[in-house]
Amino acid sequence: MKETNEDKYLEDIGIVKIQEIDSQTKNKMVIKFAKMLVATFEHQNFNYGKITKCLLGTRMYIADFKKNLGSASYFYKNRCIYIDKDADLNELDEYIIHEFIHCVQDIRIDRDYNRIGLCTISEFKIHGLALNEAAVQYITSRMLNKSLEEINYRVVILKTRSKEYYPLLSNLIEQIVYLYGEDIIVESTINGSYNFQEQYIGICSEKDFNKMELNIDKILDIRNKLSQGVDYDKQIEKIVSQYLITQDIILNSYFNRTFSKLKSLQDVELYKSKLEGIKDFIGYDDEYKKFNIYKEEKLKLLRNKMLNIMKADSINMPKIISKNKIFELFKYIRSLFMKKEY
Ligand SMILES: [Zn+2]
Repeated sequence: MKETNEDKYLEDIGIVKIQEIDSQTKNKMVIKFAKMLVATFEHQNFNYGKITKCLLGTRMYIADFKKNLGSASYFYKNRCIYIDKDADLNELDEYIIHEFIHCVQDIRIDRDYNRIGLCTISEFKIHGLALNEAAVQYITSRMLNKSLEEINYRVVILKTRSKEYYPLLSNLIEQIVYLYGEDIIVESTINGSYNFQEQYIGICSEKDFNKMELNIDKILDIRNKLSQGVDYDKQIEKIVSQYLITQDIILNSYFNRTFSKLKSLQDVELYKSKLEGIKDFIGYDDEYKKFNIYKEEKLKLLRNKMLNIMKADSINMPKIISKNKIFELFKYIRSLFMKKEY
């Protein structure tokens, strides 16, 4: 096989091409992957034919991978997939699935502008890379039926579906999925659409979206510098603190912005259940009491908000039914806040 510039580049980072994967094996892998993706997200109506066509049109090679590089890589420059010689091609592991998703995501728009899932690549800058990595790993873990597990990452206790690979990013995407919904994130990640971004901006603001995206990118930046070996422990500490900062950004944007938009008692109930449910996805360290304090404050404000909504409702109601209605509403508000200890 003739050696190309891309081959040389890959050799330098530790991936040495051996031979092209035969079409029968490739067919089997692609069909298995496409079936898994479509079945996992059944109601998304992903186009099975388009997915298989894209992957079958991609050259795939067996290669020799240096340690710590995982077992597969989609190389953006020449749009080829490389799979480690020791990987079992009959069993799609998480690396192969992750890289196949990158391949499906790669919809070239023009020479200077490209969108890969949630990541935008223009002539001047790349942004959303880490958010996209997190979302791709989320889809991978869901395809492999992995459930949330609690882990310790240094001083932080958090839940992730991906213990080995991007655990912190995977935890943050769980928080985002919980707040904004899985469907829109999975759809935007696979199709490269702006639907998720628009929804986030609609609920919060463009500034909030950019801040969240940038801060997730920062975690990946620090992590990528880790291998250079400079001050390992300090870098890990930096990752942890950047993770906690980013978590605050995600939670504060959502809960502050949605709070100001609460109009009805149903809105309040939904808000309250989101505020209580998020505890299952948050990462904690010993010092991290901030969110509980924030939550208590928000719950106090929520009671006032409910009273104001009720007052407004009663003013708009005919006098004769308002007494009964107010009594009903008081019963409702009491039941809502008596349901749980917090
Ligand atoms: Zn990736």
